[in-house]
Amino acid sequence: MLLRRDGRSARPSGALSDADVLIVGAGCAGLSLAWHLVERGLGGRRLLLVDPRTEYGRDRTWCFWNVVEHPFEDLVTKRWSRWRVRHDGPWVERSADGLRYEHLPSDAFYDRVLARLRAEPGVELRLGTSAGEIVEHADGVRVETSGGTLRAPIAFDSRPPPRRAASRPGRDVAFLQHFEGWQIEADRDAFDPTVATLMDFAVPQKHGVHFFYVLPYGPRRALVEATWFGTEVPGDDVYETALVRYIRESLGVTEWRITDREAGVIPMSAEPMPIRLSERVYRIGLGGGMAKPSTGYAFQAIQTFSEGMAARLDHDTLPEPPTPRTPFQLFQDRVFLSYLSRHTSRMPATLVGLFEQVEPKLLARFLSDRSSPTNALEVMAAMPIRAMTAETLRSYRLWLR
Ligand SMILES: Cc1cc2nc3c(=O)[nH]c(=O)nc-3n(C[C@H](O)[C@H](O)[C@H](O)COP(=O)(O)OP(=O)(O)OC[C@H]3O[C@@H](n4cnc5c(N)ncnc54)[C@H](O)[C@@H]3O)c2cc1C
Repeated sequence: MLLRRDGRSARPSGALSDADVLIVGAGCAGLSLAWHLVERGLGGRRLLLVDPRTEYGRDRTWCFWNVVEHPFEDLVTKRWSRWRVRHDGPWVERSADGLRYEHLPSDAFYDRVLARLRAEPGVELRLGTSAGEIVEHADGVRVETSGGTLRAPIAFDSRPPPRRAASRPGRDVAFLQHFEGWQIEADRDAFDPTVATLMDFAVPQKHGVHFFYVLPYGPRRALVEATWFGTEVPGDDVYETALVRYIRESLGVTEWRITDREAGVIPMSAEPMPIRLSERVYRIGLGGGMAKPSTGYAFQAIQTFSEGMAARLDHDTLPEPPTPRTPFQLFQDRVFLSYLSRHTSRMPATLVGLFEQVEPKLLARFLSDRSSPTNALEVMAAMPIRAMTAETLRSYRLWLR
């Protein structure tokens, strides 16, 4: 019998549980938590994951700066030591000793984690199983799924959040980062594989702040992604038209083959997204606010959170979760989003200015939520100082409300 520190049973009394820990959604966050639990040792606990998908593949690529340690470093397939951004002027290219922009394909991550989980006797992964509402009772949770009712003393819900820009009127600003990317094979050499294009704003600024992201894997192979920061997700034709035009006109490629596609909608909101919904139900992944509101990066925060959460579950069966970022970091994101909403047309120049003026390691740590408050203020000082001060004061007032 599992006991909480306070001596209460972690198992639902009077009802047979299907698992000791239930994870709803076995994508990045669900699998990462399972990985860390198994790595620490389940200690006799039974872990059950459910997900409607029936297969895993390369449905996304995760990129990040190499400033946060995580257990999947050996799965990184590409590292860029140079990167560039531009708006209406020349390219701003940056690099720094030892700093790399890294690329981890999702299929490698899924294969690694699934192999580990399948080898663990206490773990069950039920694919093709869709979960409905999670209902909490005094001594456990109950979830209706397409495969029947499941009961457990604790549940982690990693289902995706709604695809809308959520904000509380007058208090929060919220955007969506939405994108579609094509991995293409050009019919001739067209890319410099040594430099990643992080933001190319030299494109028509329609439907919000718009830029292209290009990850060159080789002279003929690249991921080309059309990205927007906006409040509405446009129709599929908008992505297609923008991608074709960019590949032809900006990259100068006339013949190509699409070998893979990825698409996503990531909430950019500094609105608090509670992880602990109730005593026994925790939201994790994007729904638990793990994406950095100003950038949409989530992979490293998910790893750090999962490691911390698994450690806490060793000592307490219903622990307080770790927080993905500090209130000060959340405040910086709120300032950024507030500035974005009020000075949308200035955003491309502001972002390019950051890369131009801020020392690359400092900026990488800031973008990865790893900077000290002093460093963060240094980064913010590189933004238009008057408008930023106004947004800081405004956000500070909203923050206190
Ligand atoms: C295309 C793409 C590229 C990205 N690139 C980066 C990047 O470069 N760097 C970075 O840091 N972040 C990136 N992100 C953001 C973030 O890291 C990913 O979205 C990450 O996968 C989020 O993890 P998650 O577990 O919250 O969501 P997911 O990985 O999407 O997992 C959610 C799971 O819930 C399951 N599910 C859905 N409905 C149900 C249901 N009813 N019952 C049970 N399960 C259900 C889904 O099938 C899925 O497996 C990217 C996101 C996308 C979409």
